[in-house]
Amino acid sequence: MRRPPVPIRSLAALLTAAALAGCGAGGDDTAVPGTPTDRPIATTTVADLAPTSTTTTAPPTTAPPTTTTLPPTTLPPTTLPPTTLPPTTLPPTTLPPTTLPPTTLPPTTLPATTLPQFTVAGDLDLGAQELVLGLSVEGRPIVAERHGTIGGRRVLIIGVIHGNEDDGVAIVQQLRNRAIDGTAPLDGVELWLVESMNPDGQAAQIRQNARAVDLNRNFPHKWGPIGDVGDSQYAGTGPASEPETQAMVNFIGQLRPDIAIWYHQDANLVIPSTGRDGRIRARYAELTGLPIADCCGGGGIYTGIAATWARNELKQDSDAVPFIVELPGSLTAEQVTAHADAVLTIAAEG
Ligand SMILES: [Zn+2]
Repeated sequence: MRRPPVPIRSLAALLTAAALAGCGAGGDDTAVPGTPTDRPIATTTVADLAPTSTTTTAPPTTAPPTTTTLPPTTLPPTTLPPTTLPPTTLPPTTLPPTTLPPTTLPPTTLPATTLPQFTVAGDLDLGAQELVLGLSVEGRPIVAERHGTIGGRRVLIIGVIHGNEDDGVAIVQQLRNRAIDGTAPLDGVELWLVESMNPDGQAAQIRQNARAVDLNRNFPHKWGPIGDVGDSQYAGTGPASEPETQAMVNFIGQLRPDIAIWYHQDANLVIPSTGRDGRIRARYAELTGLPIADCCGGGGIYTGIAATWARNELKQDSDAVPFIVELPGSLTAEQVTAHADAVLTIAAEG
């Protein structure tokens, strides 16, 4: 599984806007009132200083009033420069072209009650030997190839869903080679091979697709939001939001395989089940030496799983068996052959 537990993280981003504090500068009018200086001058009457008859009378002296008026002081207004936040521009979201191969019909939209959030690619010609199911985010084709007996038990093998868990490619390649050279017993078996449903992730050797979505959390059954871009199990923006998921949902919905296997690494096990499902899983485990055991300890969030979606999708009209095989961290040539043999055996036994 190669993924650590991931906490669900909020998408919210906080913007902090700076508030401008009002800044009023009040005028300060200072007025100094006039200070009248009315100083009455004492009037001195010299009457009896000398025994003369001369009398001197000084006229009264009146000082003019002194009034000082300061001009009003007005502070200039203080104006803060306007604060302009830069415009927030989201990067354009460009969806990959959904170009269908020329043999396919125009796109068909499923009723909203079934698959509410995406449009499937359209009818596929299941009589073709090779089909382009759709294109990845980066435009790589997702290809399915048909081998064996048309009309036989339909067995679908997906070599890669997590891009850095790609040892299943060697199993698919051996199945292809043996089907072509006639050394694979395919009487009564219509074998479909999808080498990779995550070619972008495989090219980059990352778990997710090119939009950082874990495709094995993106399928439209019991989908739930997990994490965000950068989290190992980021589930995308909605059920089947990714073109790779849409391509496989469309394909499997039409192919309706009896058995489907998704290869993963590197938990080295097959998860137990009951009924026909449990019997076929146990047989596969026995043939390859893988333990039957629950996966993968605590911490994982298992919504939007491809095999779980397929089991729900296909249970309506068959007893189909879609399941996961967790390969070890690497495969020897003998192990590759053992897995290819196991596929052919359970396909023949049903
Ligand atoms: Zn995996």
